[in-house]
Amino acid sequence: MKPSIYNLTKKALIKWVVAQKEKKFRALQIWEWLYRKRVTDFNEMTNLSNDFVNCLNAHFVINPLKKLIIQESFDGTKKYLFKLLDHQLIETVLMRQKYGLSVCVTTQVGCKMGCSFCASGLLNKKRDLSTGEIVAQVMQIQHSLVNERVSHVVVMGIGEPFDNYENVLNFLHIINDDRGLAIGARHITVSTSGLAAKIYDFATDDLQVNLAISLHAPNNEIRSCLMRINRLIPIEKLMKAIDFYTKTTNRRVSFEYLLLSKVNDQVHHAKRLANLLKNKKKLAYVNLILYNPINEHDQYVRSNKEDVLRFYDLLKKNKINCVIRQKFGRDIDAACGQLRAKQAFSGGKR
Ligand code: SAH
Ligand code: SF4
Repeated sequence: MKPSIYNLTKKALIKWVVAQKEKKFRALQIWEWLYRKRVTDFNEMTNLSNDFVNCLNAHFVINPLKKLIIQESFDGTKKYLFKLLDHQLIETVLMRQKYGLSVCVTTQVGCKMGCSFCASGLLNKKRDLSTGEIVAQVMQIQHSLVNERVSHVVVMGIGEPFDNYENVLNFLHIINDDRGLAIGARHITVSTSGLAAKIYDFATDDLQVNLAISLHAPNNEIRSCLMRINRLIPIEKLMKAIDFYTKTTNRRVSFEYLLLSKVNDQVHHAKRLANLLKNKKKLAYVNLILYNPINEHDQYVRSNKEDVLRFYDLLKKNKINCVIRQKFGRDIDAACGQLRAKQAFSGGKR
């Protein structure tokens, strides 16, 4: 199986081109064909010699994904189910926001973190995605657009991005490159369940990408029930890493908080959360997320409206920045891993 050329960062592409005894600027030409003109076939790269095009064809494919299903929601959200070259399934979501078009990418086939509310965790991790397989999700969606541009990317699909750190970082550098897709770092958000060691690494990377932490609980007791990872990396350790991150980058961190009825959405939970974040204030932002029920986890119930608003008000009263996040594509299972999980559990029938 030939690898995708999307695996290569610009630096790696230059190195490969030079190793083929071609001039360095050929790499930049290829880069422009891929990410500016966005061709899907090496034969369309008309300013390269036939021999070099043959060489590219012999070493790489461009697109490693096969589009299987596209579902469209009443709110314009589109969900893509892709098949990888080894027949594994992944999903990608395109959201129409007021500020532009945002793509939510998957980073692993399944996820080993096993959070109890999440469809991706149900299927466990089969493997990491390569850099190219992550890049290709954005490219495939960009190819399907006419006169529109993917302007934002969120790394919040299936998988734990910091458990596939190198490939995810390469992906971020590729989509951010100003001679390519040029998606601004401030328009990119990576969400993690809280792998503290990688938060330290991320703080010192030169990309100015936004960081989101899936917190979901105000204390270790609840968080360990919801997220297995908390038993290894408790809240104190996570907060220490986040403090390092904010001190190093002076950038805001957003905290994802999935509201689950009676589990973490009561007054004392809100007060505890406000207390946990009180010394971060300006640099902390809470996204309150409404639960998207998944059949296999019916122990959880979406919080009712009164509880959501009370939780929100309490955070506001304590001067914690927060929003209730609008959920896109509810009618098409647009939460993390749901379409793929349904395919897996139903043998592909829907
Ligand atoms: N693994 C990373 C990124 C992918 S999950 C992380 O956990 O941060 C992206 C977000 O989807 C997380 O904040 C997660 O809590 C949320 N999510 C997972 N299952 C959900 C569900 N059933 N309903 C609503 N949000 C969900
Ligand atoms: Fe993995 Fe994130 Fe789902 Fe947890 S919420 S199982 S870390 S994808």
